[in-house]
Amino acid sequence: MSAVRVAILSVGDELVLGQIEDTNASWMARALREIGAMPGERRTIGDDRAALARALRELAASHGAVIITGGLGPTLDDLTREALCDVLDGDDVALVEDPAGVAHLARWFAARGRPMPASNLRQAMRPPSARLLDNPHGTAPGLAAATHDGACEIFCLPGPPNEMRPMFQSFVAPAVRGEGEVVATAALHTIGLGESAVGEMLGELMTRGREPSVGTTASDGIVSIRIRSTGARDAAREALESVVAACRSRVGPIIFGRDGESLASVVGAMLAERGLVLATAESCTGGLLGARITDVAGSSAWYAGGFVTYENARKVADLGVREATLRDHGAVSHETAIEMARGAIARTGAAMALSTTGVAGPSGGSDAKPVGTVYIAVAEREGSVYSRRFHFPGDRATIRSRTAHLALACARFALLGDATRALLWAEGEACRVERA
Ligand code: AMP
Ligand code: MG
Repeated sequence: MSAVRVAILSVGDELVLGQIEDTNASWMARALREIGAMPGERRTIGDDRAALARALRELAASHGAVIITGGLGPTLDDLTREALCDVLDGDDVALVEDPAGVAHLARWFAARGRPMPASNLRQAMRPPSARLLDNPHGTAPGLAAATHDGACEIFCLPGPPNEMRPMFQSFVAPAVRGEGEVVATAALHTIGLGESAVGEMLGELMTRGREPSVGTTASDGIVSIRIRSTGARDAAREALESVVAACRSRVGPIIFGRDGESLASVVGAMLAERGLVLATAESCTGGLLGARITDVAGSSAWYAGGFVTYENARKVADLGVREATLRDHGAVSHETAIEMARGAIARTGAAMALSTTGVAGPSGGSDAKPVGTVYIAVAEREGSVYSRRFHFPGDRATIRSRTAHLALACARFALLGDATRALLWAEGEACRVERA
């Protein structure tokens, strides 16, 4: 038996307009995978009865179950009940009042000592061929029904996450759970190459229709390889691990971590293992690098701290960058990046330091150093300093985020003894300076 394919339909103008995040859909997709059901299509529809009915018909025709969240409120803009009735019973059929629903509402308001607004009675209405689902945490009961051919089960749950989640577990999970089936997933994170280059290394592993499936996603320089394996529990896990191993052998050392591991957590583990401490000297990232590092719990074991030296005077006073260096080469240069990193080591006694200096834009670029030009240096107290010039595409936030990621990647490759490795967005050769 293969896993039930389940569509998720989120309802509400506020979702379509981007006023709130659709956290219900991602929560449900994860919850479905945990119980061996397969998340299928996901849609978001505004408070529009006809559009809702159309989307529901389409999804029901191609899925074993559809879960709708939202649109069950008491007000006239909540139309999930009506749309479900249009699809199940026809648009000339009226909703019926469910006595159990009325009793639930009466109890709800009585328990709170409040009179029930008449409009709340809308929430006790249901299509003739649907049944109500009990909602212990709110006024809106859910709805459940099957299409006439019995091929698709439809569940309507309220929008508020604290009401939706327990109802999902009580009513939806038992109906769509896979018999010993799982959807096992793994993510391998890489940095250093672009998405298409990673795709070429993966070759036919990415062919559509293969099982387990392999896909890639890219975010600020990190390309993640996502592997998904469906089937009986042990077989699915085994197949997953064998494809993970195949990906590792094809893509090699640019893979820095798996699943929840971050670049900073991986660099931290390497430092901790060797008993080394890192310091940072940041200009264009303004503390973002330190923030990524201190996102990792326990980073005080391997991170001394850092300097945010945004203006030139601070680079001189806090890090000992020479005025002549700034005058002759500029703040955005190999020379300044190198002196910043060395200064961070000298001032903290750390074993390794990372520095960033660049033009994050939107203004401040020149022909020689356009917006996106960034220098990243890695210094080791007992070794050389390497500085790399990058040119990052994107807006200010993207350039800064990419800089922080690539700085951590430079630290990682230095720790792997491969400080001059070719990297995405790097320009020219790495500049190496021996210990002073
Ligand atoms: P509704 O059932 O449409 O009245 O939704 C009530 C409230 O639930 C909304 O105002 C949101 O705060 C929340 N909500 C609705 N849909 C979602 C969703 N997809 N993800 C997260 N919260 C939601
Ligand atoms: Mg709504």
